[in-house]
Amino acid sequence: MRRILFGIFAFFLVVSIAEAGPGGAVRCGKLLDVRTGKILSNQVISFDGDGVITSVGAEAAAGSAGTMIDLSNATCLPGLIDVHTHLTGDPSSSGYAALGISVPRETVTGVKNARLTLRAGFTTVRNVGASGFTDVAVRDGINAGEIEGPRMLVSGPPLGITGGHCDNNLLPSEYHFRSEGVADGPWAVRAKVREVIKYGADVIKICASGGVLSKGDQPGTPQYTLEEMKAIAEEAHKLGRKVAAHAHGTQSIKDAIRAGIDSIEHSSLIDDEGIALAKEHGTYLVVDSDNDDFSLQEGAKAGMLAESIEKEKKIGRLQRENFRHAFQAGTKMAFGTDAGVYPHGDNARQFAKMVEWGMKPLDAIQAATLSAADLTGWGGKVGVLEAGHYADVIAVSGDPLANVRELESIKFVMKGGVVARNDFAAK
Ligand SMILES: [Zn+2]
Repeated sequence: MRRILFGIFAFFLVVSIAEAGPGGAVRCGKLLDVRTGKILSNQVISFDGDGVITSVGAEAAAGSAGTMIDLSNATCLPGLIDVHTHLTGDPSSSGYAALGISVPRETVTGVKNARLTLRAGFTTVRNVGASGFTDVAVRDGINAGEIEGPRMLVSGPPLGITGGHCDNNLLPSEYHFRSEGVADGPWAVRAKVREVIKYGADVIKICASGGVLSKGDQPGTPQYTLEEMKAIAEEAHKLGRKVAAHAHGTQSIKDAIRAGIDSIEHSSLIDDEGIALAKEHGTYLVVDSDNDDFSLQEGAKAGMLAESIEKEKKIGRLQRENFRHAFQAGTKMAFGTDAGVYPHGDNARQFAKMVEWGMKPLDAIQAATLSAADLTGWGGKVGVLEAGHYADVIAVSGDPLANVRELESIKFVMKGGVVARNDFAAK
């Protein structure tokens, strides 16, 4: 009997070793604890073969199997999170130029951008809006280990009203074109929520107000009604999904918060009442504060409509002023860039803009780690370097609290214990 038990035990031991592998460790000269803002010295992050952290602590305490990666001259941080990306889109084609790009071609663009984004230090993204479920395909390819990229939470096509920001209004009526996320009325929007979930959405993206890049609407104008957004939020939450609402307009921001939407994207024209409502409901604001300059400089070349450039000029500065106001008032904020409208891989450039408009470097870093993890629903898995979380580690040479622009030149990236980039090792 003993023998049999030992045999079974040995069998499981072998199987578990074969499945889990030896894991490894990273030695960090300095490590930023994003919860406290303290920089700790000589820390070792150990992880198992599943890429999950088993311990973080002073070097002496760590007895780790597997390889040790030496980052003695670097500062480690948790992998960054961008909660507003469009990996399957590029800023180089806007307006009518974008009509010539097929859905399969967008997937290939997504493969390219997933790699760029990961190598820029973003080990998790929430992708909010893609046509043809291209984002689902990219996510699944990454999860299967076929292509390189961040952990992805994806929405598929965004929901919107007929003729609104999430429809495509470029073609005349004889083409009978409508975007696949278009749905009007409380029951139609519920059905659309069910449909995007059926095809792989982890999160629901909607267009509550008009937008900058859409033809024929205004960012400040409401699109979805309170009644429609209540139906969306209720249906999505029932099915275990959060909702992100594109909302520039003052009224739409308030309607979306009252409807129970989880995050307000852009939040450009938020007023004091909207800020108070966001605080009361615990709604996250995701303010893409760095892409305006890019649109104004490069938009025309990319085919951006003249009306879009005019809209951008009017809204950009107001958005930044309202970002500062909302942050100082104490709203929850998560880091999102709208990469896709903005070059992929430049995501970290937004940190400096957030600091310019009122945040301390630690606040901006927390928005891209702790807060973003909470918004994605993956708190406990990503966003901090602690046991039980994925070994998603990045490193820079300098001190990101002294100069947040250090994050624009990340030299080491590890996702789930697998190194995606190590410029420290390269000679
Ligand atoms: Zn967007």
